Amino acid sequence: MRKLFLLLSFLGASCPFPASAQRPAETPLTSLPYTPGLDPSAMDKSADPCADFYRFACGGWIKNNPIPPDESRWSVYGKLARENQRFLWGILEGLAKGTAGRSAAQQKIGDYFAACTDEAAVEKSGARPLKPYLDRIFRMKSKRDLPAVLAGLHLATGSSGLFFGFDSNQDYADATQVIAFAGSGGLGLPDRDFYTKDDDKSKELRARYAAHVARMFELLGDPPDAAGREAGKVMEIESALAGASLTRTQRRDPYKLFHKMDAGSLKALTPGFDWDVYLKTAGLPRLNAFNVTEPEFYKELDRQWRSLVLADIKTYLRWHVAHAAAPFLSSAFVNENFDFFGRTLYGVPELRPRWKRCVALVDAQLGEALGEEFVSRAFSPELKRKTLHMTKQIEQAMHDELVNLDWMSAATKQKALEKLHAIVNKIGYPDKWRDYRSVDIRRDDFFGNVERASLFESRRRLGKIGKPLDRGEWSMTPPTVNAYYNPQMNDINFAAGVLQPPLYDPRMDDAPNYGNTGGTIGHELTHGFDDEGRQFDAQGNLKDWWTEKDAREFNDRAQCIVDQYAQYAIVDDIRINSRLTEGEDIADLGGLVLAWLAWKAEMAGAKPESRDGLTPEQRFFVGYAQWACENNRPEDLRARALTDAHSPGKYRVNGLVVNMPEFERAFSCKAGQPMVRENRCRVW
Ligand SMILES: [Zn+2]
Repeated sequence: MRKLFLLLSFLGASCPFPASAQRPAETPLTSLPYTPGLDPSAMDKSADPCADFYRFACGGWIKNNPIPPDESRWSVYGKLARENQRFLWGILEGLAKGTAGRSAAQQKIGDYFAACTDEAAVEKSGARPLKPYLDRIFRMKSKRDLPAVLAGLHLATGSSGLFFGFDSNQDYADATQVIAFAGSGGLGLPDRDFYTKDDDKSKELRARYAAHVARMFELLGDPPDAAGREAGKVMEIESALAGASLTRTQRRDPYKLFHKMDAGSLKALTPGFDWDVYLKTAGLPRLNAFNVTEPEFYKELDRQWRSLVLADIKTYLRWHVAHAAAPFLSSAFVNENFDFFGRTLYGVPELRPRWKRCVALVDAQLGEALGEEFVSRAFSPELKRKTLHMTKQIEQAMHDELVNLDWMSAATKQKALEKLHAIVNKIGYPDKWRDYRSVDIRRDDFFGNVERASLFESRRRLGKIGKPLDRGEWSMTPPTVNAYYNPQMNDINFAAGVLQPPLYDPRMDDAPNYGNTGGTIGHELTHGFDDEGRQFDAQGNLKDWWTEKDAREFNDRAQCIVDQYAQYAIVDDIRINSRLTEGEDIADLGGLVLAWLAWKAEMAGAKPESRDGLTPEQRFFVGYAQWACENNRPEDLRARALTDAHSPGKYRVNGLVVNMPEFERAFSCKAGQPMVRENRCRVW
């Protein structure tokens, strides 16, 4: 993935923050505003590009774009995403008002938005929508009731926060088959490391999390002393599960996540848990192929289920149900949820306004219906043609690089080329839109809409098990400002939202477009050949197609990047965990190298002109860097250091150009300057 966005979608509370008073109120947009692909005012020309290129390219942007009070960070991607949201707001407002002449899909998203923005009705319902769930937990008579209750809650919430995650995915050994995946989960905090780290800041954060859990129990009606004890129990259970979970870095090794077993072996891992009942309730009887991604986690689950008394299991379930539902309940729940997960965890001063949370929810729950509206207005066939052309050029550049690579044997090269040519390019939006006809959406039932859309999605995902693989599927909605590579599908996906100015700018010269969007395309393509992606073959099977020597050669080159990024500081004394960011850092460098080659091929015979005081070569690099301009809150940086597989923007620019002699030449940098590295890294 190029960029990862945290959806702080429904987190929030209003607080009297002085900056907000001066902020102009946001309004719906009827068209997307234009920001140029290379913006001279975003630069800081007083900075020396050979000393700090990020500051040279982004200094103006950083100064002129303070973080809005309802964001944990602010970036070029984030700003474009916000503009897309305002544009979608305009579309949804129209569809929410006009009830005549709407298509079936337009009715769904319009009425969903209408119900979501009816704050008075939501407020009036209070915690009432939770009651059926809490009753179901309350009625449990013994631990034998757990499998049925858990299956129901998993379907309704789609959450892996309740003890474990259960989903479908392609079999690592046979990418044409979709099987059940039983994963780890059971946590309220964003990563297992939040429970295991021993420094003062981590301890303080855990104490504040426990206080939040206690306040949520109070909102459910428990007296304060009971609520405190219950929060303590939740912490105990979650800490045990966290301790038995793999780290994010370990999870980057697909072999560590591949433990295919039959129903008998799954049952043997957790003898006290009746999987037959669980699967039957989930609508999946007679399954006999499972990938248990983390067997050690399931052994710990079994220990927990044995040792916990029924009352503690009920406590744990009540917390997670309230946690999953909090964003959709009255303001007491919404505010308490935001107070910890927005303000404390990410340092965000203010809750997002309701319109914004509702647009994000329509996108999350009925995203392809909303995406269809977005694409018809903001993504022309001409744009698709141009970006597809660029993608083909980048593929050609990778082809040429592979053929000429000096460290890879002919046998491995042949497999690599086979994989490269098998990659499917998905640009803008899916060929076939998802059919939401079976989801009942009502104008006067917000919580019910959330519930039914969640159920639809859970059933849709589980329904794929045992069916032929749909290679046309997308796992990102069209308005999303992002792109991804999926090693099991062996496809690259660029949502329409990421192919808009200032990222892809049809009015701009080629240099910044190839630097920016070309760099993104090259980045996703390189993911097929990073430390993780390279372990999958052309069909998406987890299969080693490398000779031993070639694998060693690859690892040596990747290690150079790991060592380089490990030096960079994120915040305070926290440095980049470069084993976690390895794949992204490799993709960044490989991507820009490919974009450069594609641009040079496009320019063959042409003589592009200098503009804005920058040569074409300089424009290529500034165009690249300007996707990565960002401002972050320290809390956000700290949380991301544990969870984000991407390096901070500054190093995604500076860490990359120091490895490119093309950059040194473009800016006439000299040996010894900070942006010129003596021992350069290069994988692809
Ligand atoms: Zn990526």
